[in-house]
Amino acid sequence: MQLSSRTRPTVTKLPVLQYGCRTVAGPQEGNEISFNYLSEGGANYVFSIDPWNQLDRRRPRIIFVTNTGSVVPKNQVLGKVMRISKGVLKTLNSQEVISGLLTEIIPLFELPNFSTKNTSSALNTKQIPTSTLPTSRLVSLKALPTNRMNPTLTQHLMEHEGVDLPSEVIQELYDEVYQKSSHMGRERITLKVEAQWGILLPNLSSVPGKSLTIEVKPKWLEQSRKAPQDAYRCRNCALRASKPAEDKQNAYLCPLYLVAGNASVIQPWVKRKVLDAFGTLPEPQPEQKMVENITDHITHYIVAGKGHRLISHIKHQQVRLDTEAELKQGETALTAKQETSLRLAMTLKDCSLYIKVSYSDKDLPIESWLGDLDFKSPQKIKGWGLKETALVDGGWYTQRDVGGERLDCMISAARDENVALHHS
Ligand SMILES: [Zn+2]
Repeated sequence: MQLSSRTRPTVTKLPVLQYGCRTVAGPQEGNEISFNYLSEGGANYVFSIDPWNQLDRRRPRIIFVTNTGSVVPKNQVLGKVMRISKGVLKTLNSQEVISGLLTEIIPLFELPNFSTKNTSSALNTKQIPTSTLPTSRLVSLKALPTNRMNPTLTQHLMEHEGVDLPSEVIQELYDEVYQKSSHMGRERITLKVEAQWGILLPNLSSVPGKSLTIEVKPKWLEQSRKAPQDAYRCRNCALRASKPAEDKQNAYLCPLYLVAGNASVIQPWVKRKVLDAFGTLPEPQPEQKMVENITDHITHYIVAGKGHRLISHIKHQQVRLDTEAELKQGETALTAKQETSLRLAMTLKDCSLYIKVSYSDKDLPIESWLGDLDFKSPQKIKGWGLKETALVDGGWYTQRDVGGERLDCMISAARDENVALHHS
């Protein structure tokens, strides 16, 4: 049923909790789970959610509960991942992340011209009138659209579900991090253990025998406005040039090529990403034909499909929100509104795009989600300016040779081509 503009629900702006979590001591009842350390970034730890294993009795049994205290069937949460904040300075906690997503990030992906009549919100969320909200901290409400037919770009945003984690569960998570990563010489986490929110997210990892996921970084999709006129490199390639060689092992693509949709450059890069992704799966290497098919499928998605529409939109928003460019000569301070815009622009310049392609069922469409859309903290603004100055002053935009490394930037290629034309 198509909702009219009058009945179309609006999104709540408050962060909401979807679940609670607690350890259980009584008889086993079948819905117990364990959190297992999966990975970590600079600001978060990520855990998989797996059925509690009888063979590992040292691990506490944990259950998810609803706002009324009833047990959540484990199938509702298995297969998702949960992240918690490391509490690092200049990063946001989980409430702030969800709140920023609802109030600031989602509106950037609503395309009013795609919705039927209503231009205020095209989100399809379950609405509970504020007056009926229970006084408990737990509110059952989905924070993101569930209707994937809705033709706005919000379909690419992941559902974020808040989980209230008591201190005993946080302690278990810290112990798990220590157990699984102590081989890296890590010391036991001695942070004060306090209750905090976690965030449940879909698990987008590749599934052996079924699907493959590649991660794309649609970083600075346009040259920095502060780059020198004679720049030989875009902002992202300049930053890459400034980094030590060991940070450059992974397949890399200049983001300007990504947004330009240049198939002859994108295709070989996608192929390397596909081979790398297969390399992480515990299964025999795929046939050449399958690799070619998947590569072509993803390349088309990025160059001409929905992926292109999404990447172009991210570029549009990155440019539109870059308020630093509005500063007049001599001005250094941004207004509060300009600061918010700049934080949003920088959020979009640091997100990840996960492209998932099914190879067991060729009829399934490619799906993609944007991740790492945590609204950047205002405390980071000063650091951004310093980083940009260091890139300009260090000559990273303009030096032609960086340790003899081959340059794959679109700006370098265009300039070299110009020089060649003039000399022919
Ligand atoms: Zn570049």
